[in-house]
Amino acid sequence: MKKFVDFPYSNILVLGLAKSGTAAAETLLANDKKVIVNDMKANENDENVIYLKKMGAAVIVGSHPISILDGIELIVKNPGIPYENVIVAEASKLGIPIITEIELAFHLTNRPIIGITGSNGKTTTTTLVTKMLKESKRPVQVAGNIGIVATETVHSLKENEVLVLELSSFQLQGIRKFKPTTAILLNIFEAHLDYHKTIDNYKQAKFNIFKNQTKEDYLVYNADDQAITEEVKQAISKLVPFSVKTRMETGAWADSDYIYFEDEKVIARQDIVLVGEHNLENILAAIAAAKLNGATSLGIRNVLTTFSGVEHRLQFVKKVNGRLFYNDSKATNILATQKALGAFTKPTILLAGGLDRGNEFTELLPFLRNVKAMVVFGQTASKLKQLGMDAGIQTIIESEDVRSAVDSAYSISRVEDVILLSPACASWDQYRTFEERGDMFVQAVHKLK
Ligand code: ADP
Repeated sequence: MKKFVDFPYSNILVLGLAKSGTAAAETLLANDKKVIVNDMKANENDENVIYLKKMGAAVIVGSHPISILDGIELIVKNPGIPYENVIVAEASKLGIPIITEIELAFHLTNRPIIGITGSNGKTTTTTLVTKMLKESKRPVQVAGNIGIVATETVHSLKENEVLVLELSSFQLQGIRKFKPTTAILLNIFEAHLDYHKTIDNYKQAKFNIFKNQTKEDYLVYNADDQAITEEVKQAISKLVPFSVKTRMETGAWADSDYIYFEDEKVIARQDIVLVGEHNLENILAAIAAAKLNGATSLGIRNVLTTFSGVEHRLQFVKKVNGRLFYNDSKATNILATQKALGAFTKPTILLAGGLDRGNEFTELLPFLRNVKAMVVFGQTASKLKQLGMDAGIQTIIESEDVRSAVDSAYSISRVEDVILLSPACASWDQYRTFEERGDMFVQAVHKLK
């Protein structure tokens, strides 16, 4: 296991066990730190609890006794635990630093880190950057909010590898010295206000991504986002803008035909498989960061001419007898479905429906221009049917579930139609997760003859 650099803490409390807490505790123990682990929900018999005790940690489960803070110099908090938690609140009062595991990862490596944050598009951009570097033969590993514990990944990070990290606002709120050598700031929409309380707190957490950067580092930012453009004026690092609207001499940009990095034509837009205006932003950000870290234009092109999207995010599934199937099961709200519909100009059959949260869907009306038919399912089926009728859509079919919706859509489709699953609703009325719903769609598409 790797050793910490510049990490002057001896008595440490790890709050929240899960995957990341276990990895954090393990690393701290291997670095001869005194470790207490505390988790409200875990059980004495959990595998991780038994293992960490055996390794020498004190593990307290089922309660949050304030007394465990005695002598604690640092808390490593699971990003999901809110700041109102009794222990966290008390520790804040006492001035005990509270970090998350990405800070630990940072102190274990001196390799370049590409850190990616934003309200939307993180996973897509993280995936793009990683693939672009790989295709350019630049050794790379990926971790963070994408579902891979960074502390674990850094232990296997080789001397020639770059670390790509997807970063949530929850992770960034608790940083002290962490800094990426290349940061990407994609966009900021109102989100997670239950956790951050105010939009300013939320923005501040996101802006933390560049607060420790030095003048050797790069900050790739969305020049079309006003709040971001204002804030990055504070940055010390080298600014690398991207824009879908304006020519950027020192960054990535696009006109109607090509994508450029600085003055180099990188790829023709018609050669890109990923659809959607929002994905164009993600692509520009990824190109800039990949270029700054040694990616080649050929490597970038190889990715963009083949990569059909992260699973369930406006992902191209398959062409069946001339019909184009797209899986956007991650679209669990109206905004996401608006984006998806905006991505197509061909006649579209929309598959939508799911959990009823009490909202009407009138905000979708202006986006239904290319929708020639709808197949609706789930709790919101009748509301969506009404919406379709209001939009003057001739063919609207009510369906049992996603599987039969695929069959119905196919039976009324023609060559060149887009058949799009973009439900505008959460999946929990019929499916455990949006992934399960998307998988069912993909399976049904593959079964079509
Ligand atoms: P995240 O990891 O930030 O949740 P994803 O890459 O998983 O983002 O994309 C989730 C959804 O967010 C997509 O299906 C799409 O609806 C929307 N989205 C993606 N990128 C952007 C962007 N750059 N701007 C606005 N919305 C986006």
